Amino acid sequence: MIPNKLKILLSGVPGFSSRGFFGWCTIALVKVNSGEYLLFDTGHHGDRLTLLRELERMGLSPDKISHVVVSHLHFDHCLNMHLFKKAKIYASEKELNYVLSNEYEAKGDPFVPYAYVKDLSSRIATVEDGQELAPRCQVVLLPGHTPGSLGLFLEDVKVILVGDAIRHAWELLHEPGICFHSLQEAEKSAKKALEIAEVVVPGHDRPFKLEEGRVHYLEDFHLELIFRIHPHDQPVTVKLES
Ligand SMILES: [Zn+2]
Repeated sequence: MIPNKLKILLSGVPGFSSRGFFGWCTIALVKVNSGEYLLFDTGHHGDRLTLLRELERMGLSPDKISHVVVSHLHFDHCLNMHLFKKAKIYASEKELNYVLSNEYEAKGDPFVPYAYVKDLSSRIATVEDGQELAPRCQVVLLPGHTPGSLGLFLEDVKVILVGDAIRHAWELLHEPGICFHSLQEAEKSAKKALEIAEVVVPGHDRPFKLEEGRVHYLEDFHLELIFRIHPHDQPVTVKLES
């Protein structure tokens, strides 16, 4: 069971196509102990209307979100930050510097929306490892995928949201994920996340527990892909379910 203080608004999708990476990340809403709402990651333009619809279903407008934490500054996680006009936006200092100093270019990282981040940079507050944003809700530095990747640890329910420090369970079991900073650091970060929490919420997958090397998901997988490729016929719908 996922603790009811945590709601996955958009479920991360561990997949790609012959056309490339979907960029469908996990977007999670946390009701923190002070009663305020925190959003962890914001998705990209293609997620925007779905995100707003899901918030509305929760009875929330974007102005009701008081904290936004972005795990890292890749397009698939941060491109809706500006919607949350009354929120404090948090990223790590290393991550913000990675973008603003152009280090990302030297690393060949194609996923950074530089102009968008630069434009919003005065609104982004930097946080340090272990900093509490609300009672028993703290950020955790998880470098590797990028130099300043952040997680969020909900201490009282032992849940950690990890962004792309663990993109999905398959990658955790089979091969290291893509790293623009350091593979060694990424392995340490994944280990750290698994040590401190019982439930891991990956950047592109459903929440899971890892018990004796086996992954146990806490939610089912549902995704419909709809293609209008036959103009004289009905759309083709592909339903994926676990
Ligand atoms: Zn991602």
